[in-house]
Amino acid sequence: TIGDNFDRTVAAFGDREALADCATGKRWTYTELAVDVDAVAFGLLGLGVGKGDRVGIWSPNCAEWTLVQYATAKIGAILVNINPSYRVHELKFVLNQAGIRTLVAAPSFKTSDYAGMIEEVRPECPALEDVILMGHEEWTALASAAVDAERLAEIGRTLTADDPINIQYTSGTTGFPKGATLSHHNILNNGFFVGELCNYTEADRICIPVPFYHCFGMVMGNLAATSHGSCMVIPAPAFDPEATLKAVADERCTSLYGVPTMFIAELSHPKFDDYDLSSLRTGIMAGSPCPVEVMKQVIDRMGMTEVSICYGMTETSPVSTQTRADDSVERRVSTVGRVGPHIEVKIVDPETGLTVPRGVPGEFCTRGYSVMLGYWEQPDKTAEAIDRARWMHTGDLAIMDSDGYLNITGRIKDMVIRGGENIYPREIEEFLYTHPDILDAQVIGVPDERYGEELMVWIRMREGAEPLTAEAVREFATGKLAHYKIPRYVHVVDEFPMTVTGKIRKVEMRAKSVELLG
Ligand code: ATP
Ligand code: MG
Repeated sequence: TIGDNFDRTVAAFGDREALADCATGKRWTYTELAVDVDAVAFGLLGLGVGKGDRVGIWSPNCAEWTLVQYATAKIGAILVNINPSYRVHELKFVLNQAGIRTLVAAPSFKTSDYAGMIEEVRPECPALEDVILMGHEEWTALASAAVDAERLAEIGRTLTADDPINIQYTSGTTGFPKGATLSHHNILNNGFFVGELCNYTEADRICIPVPFYHCFGMVMGNLAATSHGSCMVIPAPAFDPEATLKAVADERCTSLYGVPTMFIAELSHPKFDDYDLSSLRTGIMAGSPCPVEVMKQVIDRMGMTEVSICYGMTETSPVSTQTRADDSVERRVSTVGRVGPHIEVKIVDPETGLTVPRGVPGEFCTRGYSVMLGYWEQPDKTAEAIDRARWMHTGDLAIMDSDGYLNITGRIKDMVIRGGENIYPREIEEFLYTHPDILDAQVIGVPDERYGEELMVWIRMREGAEPLTAEAVREFATGKLAHYKIPRYVHVVDEFPMTVTGKIRKVEMRAKSVELLG
């Protein structure tokens, strides 16, 4: 279980630094962290929380988040990650859908009054018994509860690796988020193997600007770190490019995480050159298609020579494939690597379900330890995603080459069919990234009378560059892309619509584009 693994790390690396929270300046060694985790575990027990009870956490990244993560794991309570950008309607949904008994929350964040929203929905959430606001008296009481080590060890012995321990909602990129129910076995192993492929040891310091609310932060970040005795560094409560650069420099981080848009923001930050990033050795880019150009800059300008790309989804704990430090640079910037240890993969024709030959795109399906237990109390949705042979159908399109390296060509839902041609937006986006004035480009399909769908690209320009017109894009692409892959419409924007996990919401882009085109 996660608790057993944590205890072993504490025994082995007790004096090593475990956690540094840059916003508050507080830091913990593994021994100190264990003391605080056990206190929170006892605080929760004191409230009557037991095995299988749902404990919600609603907060941006902070040290308390980590304490609650390991405290719930130790007593077998199911941690429910709540999206920091939720508002009353969604909060009420998740509290009731997951049947949350105890909610630990930040009192507020930026302009959001979490405490006020909780009070507003509370009368309509019958399962909710306790609300603990971080920094308030009730939190202090919880975090300083007296610990009976023998009792905690006894509880630990009643937990099994297959118990559900975490409900994580998917990003909601393509629709309403679904609650993936994950076991100790699912996420502990995934965090461990991610850490193995990053070659983490107790000397590593991992900068985690991605949300803990998401598996990228709490599994690939926290669980990878604690299973290797590495240190978790929290640069800021929510992503801030400069705070991230500063944390890497001040904390001498060896590893840095981010979705592509985060790395783009760091690399294009006016103060990029003010920070000494020479401690960086590795890191992970994941979550969305990782542009080759951005990967190259991460290696050349940030010195992350061993950086990995990971591909996966919340439902698979999350990582299914990962590039490794000993893969060729070419493959490390342009593929999502090979399938991870002890995971099975097959690429199938979505229509027939039959495995396609190497080099042919199809739906990425995966099976093994990493596949979730199911969607929380949504058996129908679970049955749609996981078939009777236990294969998880991801809804992503992938190509596997003859050496087993994979490329994600896009989501089935994002594929554009123009005049009968299947077009993968990813390929066009990659090409547009090579334009010197383009900071970021996202391609979508919009309805078209003649062709069924037409291509539209939304572009973010580099600082000081003139907005590109459709003619200019056509000129740039002519002779380099097949004519049907050249976007007909160009829309220059400052920002893309994004999820809190930093993914671009193409569903929203499509809806807005339809409006724009009238
Ligand atoms: P929802 O399922 O609610 O629509 P979501 O799928 O974005 O949202 P997550 O589980 O956070 O929620 O993200 C998993 C998805 O992210 C994958 O299915 C895939 O489409 C995309 N993804 C993750 N990593 C990569 C990557 N390295 N390259 C391309 N796409 C990626
Ligand atoms: Mg998904």
